[in-house]
Amino acid sequence: MPGTTQVRLEVSELYVQYPTPKGVIKAVDGVNFSLKNESLGIAGESACGKSTLGTALIRSVQPPGRIVKGRVMLNDEDLILLSTNEFKNRIRWKRIAMVFQGAMNALDPVYTVESQMKEILTEHQFDGDMRQRILDALDQVGLDRSVAKRYPHELSGGMKQRVVIAMALLLDPDVLIADEPTTALDVLVQAQIINLLKKVRKEKGIIILLITHDLAIVSELADKIAIMYAGRIVEFGSSADIYRNPKHPYTQSLIGAIPRLRANEKKIRFIKGSPPSLIDPPMGCRFFARCPQAMDACKNDPPEIKTETGYVRCWLYK
Ligand code: ATP
Ligand code: SF4
Repeated sequence: MPGTTQVRLEVSELYVQYPTPKGVIKAVDGVNFSLKNESLGIAGESACGKSTLGTALIRSVQPPGRIVKGRVMLNDEDLILLSTNEFKNRIRWKRIAMVFQGAMNALDPVYTVESQMKEILTEHQFDGDMRQRILDALDQVGLDRSVAKRYPHELSGGMKQRVVIAMALLLDPDVLIADEPTTALDVLVQAQIINLLKKVRKEKGIIILLITHDLAIVSELADKIAIMYAGRIVEFGSSADIYRNPKHPYTQSLIGAIPRLRANEKKIRFIKGSPPSLIDPPMGCRFFARCPQAMDACKNDPPEIKTETGYVRCWLYK
């Protein structure tokens, strides 16, 4: 993309855990992927660790949850090694921003959009023309400038979602993480939000991570896809490759569900069973109990096996 900066994000061996009275939840359990000015769709069933992965990248894991180990390289800098203050002052919002799940419902009802945006700029010592920056951000997300003076309750769901995306873009980040940005919006508005993210990516060349449980939505935006299952990425690669030729049996089931979802079929056959506990996950393949192709070898943990554009964690490909 002409005029855009080169951004590399490389995540290796990332582990995030939540201690609970019942045991330690291994929410992200050895995650690896890398991106170069690309968009990534992170998909998988509920509770597989998608949001925890997003919050770890922006160092906002909810305590007592914590990053146990791993590397998150943004260009040549390991973000995990930075002190909390350094990360807050130099990286959060300025280099990596996140639209948290449900953020549009967390807008403060007593302040106008402009005051809430001003607060972010002030907090991060923005030294330019604040009003102009706010108006530019509203333009960027396709909102009329008059929205600046309005209160959240005066806006539709789609407009509120655009506002929170504009907030995330205020400080011109290199990486934007959007966690379920289309949930609770109707289908038409969902498509508009995805188109908006596509436009932002095209114009600014930034890395976008779209977290969703709906693989059909990912297809519209993502250059690459990561399929998560029980705290791990089980398949990673270019979206063209994964849609055309899904390798992991779990990915195959998810992709298989898309045409039926699109056709609005009443009886959607999801994969039988449920994912294993993240407190005490099985030693071997975590999909074993639900996999139609499980074999003896799968009682051992499958490694990441290289594919044309990424990797797959499944013994069928060894
Ligand atoms: P969803 O699609 O439902 O948002 P997800 O794939 O984003 O799910 P996470 O929200 O990251 O998954 O959850 C991963 C695991 O970590 C789950 O077992 C969840 O219960 C647990 N978890 C998440 N947040 C916390 C927390 N603050 N304290 C304890 N456990 C947590
Ligand atoms: Fe199925 Fe075995 Fe592959 Fe796991 S490793 S997905 S159980 S075939």
